[in-house]
Amino acid sequence: MTTITLNLQAIRTRIERAASACARRTSEISLLAVSKTVPAPYIEEACRAGQAAFGESYAQEAVRKITQLGPLDIEWHFIGPIQSNKTRVIAEHFQWVHSVDRANIAVRLNDGRPAHLPPLNVCIQINVSGELSKSGVAPGEERELARVIADLNRLRLRGLMAIPEPTLDTALQRSRYALLRKLRDELNAEGYQLDTLSMGMSDDLESAIAEGATIVRVGTAVFGSRETL
Ligand SMILES: *Cc1c(COP(=O)(O)O)cnc(C)c1O
Repeated sequence: MTTITLNLQAIRTRIERAASACARRTSEISLLAVSKTVPAPYIEEACRAGQAAFGESYAQEAVRKITQLGPLDIEWHFIGPIQSNKTRVIAEHFQWVHSVDRANIAVRLNDGRPAHLPPLNVCIQINVSGELSKSGVAPGEERELARVIADLNRLRLRGLMAIPEPTLDTALQRSRYALLRKLRDELNAEGYQLDTLSMGMSDDLESAIAEGATIVRVGTAVFGSRETL
């Protein structure tokens, strides 16, 4: 078996263990394989090993690979920072966008979503660590953005996404993810029906699953270190 196939098996096992440790069903958690900077043949290999959803961060690179891998039945998720001149190409090529953090970007994605496609699934990115350089709205600001998105009929608001600061402190990891869940629960209490918490990466997916993650975004643990690709 190839390394990618073995890596995928190992991650699925980690997801199963983390889910059973907190009495959740594995079927509630989906694996998004983050393939930014990863060449198309490796994505194809992961696909053959049963992986269906892939995450990309750079629009131009992603569209090249999406076109190349066109015949494969892949669900593409955009997870990177969104420049306003890339909204159309993102809305045309992806099924999901996890990183919406501004009203004008939401409006542009809505305008760019082709009529023959179903509404684009979106998450609001929240800056749960309060880092100045990070993308994402500050906690509390998601309510206004959620109201804007709810009025856009080519977008479907699915939930929230976060990329906390990297840390090995599992209590800190969990507190960041608990905050994201709390914000999601508060929106649902106001009448939204958000089913998605996009949180957890190669090094901390167990903490994210313990706090309710429904999509974990895993790159390095699937494809290896991006520096050596
Ligand atoms: C790169 C990236 C990941 C994957 O990170 P790994 O540590 O390689 O698993 C997850 N989410 C986002 C938004 C990313 O940009």
